[in-house]
Amino acid sequence: MSKSFDAVIIGGGIVGLSVGYHLTKKGLKTIVVEKKYTGSGSTGRCIGGIRMQFSTEASIKLMQESMAHFTGMEKAFGFSVEFLAGGYLFLAHTEDKLDAFRSVIALQKKLGLNVRELDPEECEKLVPGINTKGLKGGVYSPDDGQAYPFKVLKGYINGIRDNGSVVRTYTEVTGIKSVDGIVTGVELENGEFLASPVVVNAAGPWAVEVGKMAGVELPIFPEEHEALISDRYEHLFDPMVVDYRPDGCYFQQMVTGQIIGCYTPVPNKPGKHTSSSSEFLLEMSKRTSRLIPKLKDLNVLRHWGGSYSMTPDGSPIIDRTGTKGFYVAAGMSGHGFMFGPAIGKYLAQIITEGTYPFDWDEFKLERDFSRKEIMK
Ligand SMILES: Cc1cc2nc3c(=O)[nH]c(=O)nc-3n(C[C@H](O)[C@H](O)[C@H](O)COP(=O)(O)OP(=O)(O)OC[C@H]3O[C@@H](n4cnc5c(N)ncnc54)[C@H](O)[C@@H]3O)c2cc1C
Repeated sequence: MSKSFDAVIIGGGIVGLSVGYHLTKKGLKTIVVEKKYTGSGSTGRCIGGIRMQFSTEASIKLMQESMAHFTGMEKAFGFSVEFLAGGYLFLAHTEDKLDAFRSVIALQKKLGLNVRELDPEECEKLVPGINTKGLKGGVYSPDDGQAYPFKVLKGYINGIRDNGSVVRTYTEVTGIKSVDGIVTGVELENGEFLASPVVVNAAGPWAVEVGKMAGVELPIFPEEHEALISDRYEHLFDPMVVDYRPDGCYFQQMVTGQIIGCYTPVPNKPGKHTSSSSEFLLEMSKRTSRLIPKLKDLNVLRHWGGSYSMTPDGSPIIDRTGTKGFYVAAGMSGHGFMFGPAIGKYLAQIITEGTYPFDWDEFKLERDFSRKEIMK
């Protein structure tokens, strides 16, 4: 195999494969190097939610682009990625939370999102059987949705290979070489060297370690999460239901009928272990059945652990770095699956044209990290 590429991408999750796909489409001979199997990091462990309801202009624009990709994937890939526009319903159990949601509706509408506030009765119409005790209302967009991560990855892998580029699995990058501050390629665990003027760090929860290989420090902190999936059920509801109480949870019904969901532990659990706990199973059962009592008999098929890669402000880092030719696309929080398609397109633009697609301050490596995402 040739040992020289126009671009080396480290990481075969949604982000690395999307960047690889878009660079390949632009004519760059690209290799995506994955230490295990594609999707083995966070991507294969996520629950597939996709939404445009964010609180900043840059995140909304990023997601509008991603959504256009998700809706076009069946045509682009030649098979369904189980995309469903079932909507996202964010629930508020306090007036403060409702006010926080309300505070971003004007911006969301200005940017073209179809979003509206719902009262508790309207929430119940959307999600029959939901417990409205203590519910103040919610915000909802019917245009948000879901897709099946492994099928999306398959589409990108096919696209990369069909266009003459490479996806190499079970191969770990152990070093990044640079000369006079300019990247020259990567070293593999077996001692091979892949020469390239472009190296992209798309290593998800391992982005900090990969950054260090190039002398780039990243403010990214992996957190442990868990998720579960149930047996198939008759159709119950369409949207992702997001209960943001500290002891809340979020879940949706997949195209195939299973309920898939998770919750964010409070306090957060730093680390990137992927073990699954009985505590999660018990808590998740309590939380889902408190919200929709008829889910108390949910038959859980399996459950698993995975990582979020957090930045201090909850927005990803998608940028060039101080080492010329070394780029980073990491720190995705709980949004990397949905951000992935647009990140691939826009990072390919940053790499090949040297321009940002729009005001990119929110995603730059050198930024003020004190802002906080409200829809999270
Ligand atoms: C329970 C759970 C639910 C979630 N739900 C959602 C959701 O509904 N919607 C959403 O958008 N996001 C969700 N997320 C977040 C989402 O999964 C991640 O943000 C996203 O998958 C990150 O993708 P990535 O490509 O950056 O990282 P990853 O998928 O982790 O890919 C990085 C890859 O890099 C590889 N790698 C690391 N180091 C090296 C090396 N040295 N050499 C070679 N390869 C290397 C790893 O093996 C890994 O496969 C969820 C996450 C979890 C855990």
